[in-house]
Amino acid sequence: MKKPMRYCCYCGKDIARRELEGKMRDYCPRCGSIFYENPLPVASTIVVNDRREVLLVRRKKDPYRDMWCLPIGFAESGEEIRDAALRELEEEAGVRGEIVRLIDVDTVENYFYGSLAIVTYEARMTGGSVRPGDDASDAAFFPIGDLPPLAWSSNEKAVGIYVELYTDSWTMVDSFRHLFPETGPPSEIIPGEDEHYAFLSNVLVKFIEKSIHAVTDEWAKEIERRFPALSPHMGELRALNLNVLRGIQYWLTRGTDTLGVEEFIEAGDRLRDLGIGLPEAITAVALSRKSLWLRLVRERIFLTPIEIYTTLELNNRIIFFYDKINYFLSLGYMKTERP
Ligand SMILES: [Zn+2]
Repeated sequence: MKKPMRYCCYCGKDIARRELEGKMRDYCPRCGSIFYENPLPVASTIVVNDRREVLLVRRKKDPYRDMWCLPIGFAESGEEIRDAALRELEEEAGVRGEIVRLIDVDTVENYFYGSLAIVTYEARMTGGSVRPGDDASDAAFFPIGDLPPLAWSSNEKAVGIYVELYTDSWTMVDSFRHLFPETGPPSEIIPGEDEHYAFLSNVLVKFIEKSIHAVTDEWAKEIERRFPALSPHMGELRALNLNVLRGIQYWLTRGTDTLGVEEFIEAGDRLRDLGIGLPEAITAVALSRKSLWLRLVRERIFLTPIEIYTTLELNNRIIFFYDKINYFLSLGYMKTERP
């Protein structure tokens, strides 16, 4: 419990209380000192892992002994409040971190400490390991939607603000995962931390380089399943699909205007000569796009809105390219001047 001051710290006289500057304040009747009460600065951190769990510590001491809360503690004089937050994070939870952003500043009247100004930051874990230290008897991650009651009302408030801040992102990520449940773990084509914003065409060019035969195999299987009559022509069709995929690479690295359309006009011409129907030919090209897109989606992992945006943007480019292929393929197919 916060104890009231009894004697003047300058002259030792008993402290009195009266209205000063519009508020009841402690003052010294002998030397005239006024004892302003200022809130104590407190720093706290929200660390959330990629499973959307919040790092909490269990309090070893009063107030709120045995209750869980965010890593939290007083800032010291001369200490940056951000540094205090990170220091408390490491002291109480064993986790080294860096500040991501300010989440909330809250002022509260606490029965134990009096007036507090609680500053809460979002922090990212950069090292260390979760273990209780200092004033904590335990430290653990809890699902953000299922937290135990928190010791400090300011902690509850800050977590609420955090959730509100990230709800849209999480909804986007979840809807995307729902759309593509087969999305697996990240593969080597995932851009690293530094390349997250790498030009998306490069992502696709590299991806095709790596997967051109696997994508074509998957695609060929689907063609044969849907159109068993095309089985004898799979050699020709595979060559067409490889040309389409190489065409995308060429188009993305050299620019749209230089797309070699002649080979697709010729391919249309050949498909007709082989007796393959135009609807089947066009469907084969559409399935080529589908197989490329699904594989691209499957091999990436979507964690952030920017990755989702990037992927959708990439799909728009692919659609545009395939529309062109279909146009030239049909053109060749319907050629009137035949040998
Ligand atoms: Zn005094």
